[in-house]
Amino acid sequence: DQDDGDDATPVRWIRINPLKCDIPVVVEQLNKKFPHRVDHWDQLSPGSIYYDEYVPNLFGIHPSEKITSHDLYKQGKVIIQDRASCLPAHILNPGKEDVVMDACAAPGNKTTHLAAHIISAAGDSNGGQAQIHAFEKEPARAKVLQKMTSQAGCGSLVKIHVGDFTRLAVPDQFEDVTAALVDPSCSGSGIFGRKSLESSNDSQDQKLQDRLSKLSSFQFQVVKHAMSMPNARKIVYSTCSVHAEENERVVIDLLLDSKVKEWGWQLSPRSEVVPTWPRRGIAEEFEEVFRDDKPKCQLLAESCIRALPREDGGIGFFAVCFQR
Ligand code: SAM
Repeated sequence: DQDDGDDATPVRWIRINPLKCDIPVVVEQLNKKFPHRVDHWDQLSPGSIYYDEYVPNLFGIHPSEKITSHDLYKQGKVIIQDRASCLPAHILNPGKEDVVMDACAAPGNKTTHLAAHIISAAGDSNGGQAQIHAFEKEPARAKVLQKMTSQAGCGSLVKIHVGDFTRLAVPDQFEDVTAALVDPSCSGSGIFGRKSLESSNDSQDQKLQDRLSKLSSFQFQVVKHAMSMPNARKIVYSTCSVHAEENERVVIDLLLDSKVKEWGWQLSPRSEVVPTWPRRGIAEEFEEVFRDDKPKCQLLAESCIRALPREDGGIGFFAVCFQR
């Protein structure tokens, strides 16, 4: 969840925040500040800018740029957010009719991005019927979430609930929820500068496996709970982990779960999940379980998005979308 990256990031990603500004005006200001436009993020140098081809209103600049001292940043008109971390809200793409659950919300990067989608979709209105319920278990982190959403201009669009999502979000009381974003705690193995999780001996290997197994059963529970919301139609699950245990294997466990099947949840096809993003899920993980149906495994893997740390321009990441 350290979405602002660190000094080792190959690109500084900045997102225009429509809650605080008029997008074309800020695009013009960015063009003045970064006059040289490049075709790919790996060509960035000081003074240049890259318009991201996947996420609207997202730009890459050279990591040496001191954007935090610029007025656009200080006024909340641009937000620093890794590109991979912008994919979940982009995939969920909520509109002015939606009531969205952000199950694991702090510090709030994706919450403010969800709000940006709703406000952009609503045009001149203030979000219409839309609402975002942002849940955060840790009170100290919920304070950061409160600060971030209010600084970003989310106003009453975001309602913060402090506590465990799986207990607080009682399905009967959230009958109006139409969509959810589930971005639970993970190993963070895709984030730069995290201590390597790779092991050098058997005992470390066992510790890592135990940790991943605990994390994946927690991740499964949170997504499954979101799936129990009676009128939810779309759920995006994401991690900043590169481990299949927290990614494809959580998806497999969900697809095999009898309740999840009964509720009618399926993976959204590639065509609805940033189809031009090249790096997809690992088909071999699905083949371990659905071994006699390779075409199905290929389709399931294609439904997933993966990003490798640095090589894909930012943090390591995984995202997938369920729908019914
Ligand atoms: N979505 C956030 C963002 O983009 O800024 C990052 C979320 S971070 C990966 C996971 C968060 O979920 C942590 O703040 C953690 O405290 C919170 N969390 C963990 N378990 C939770 C639960 N059962 N209910 C609500 N929040 C939980």
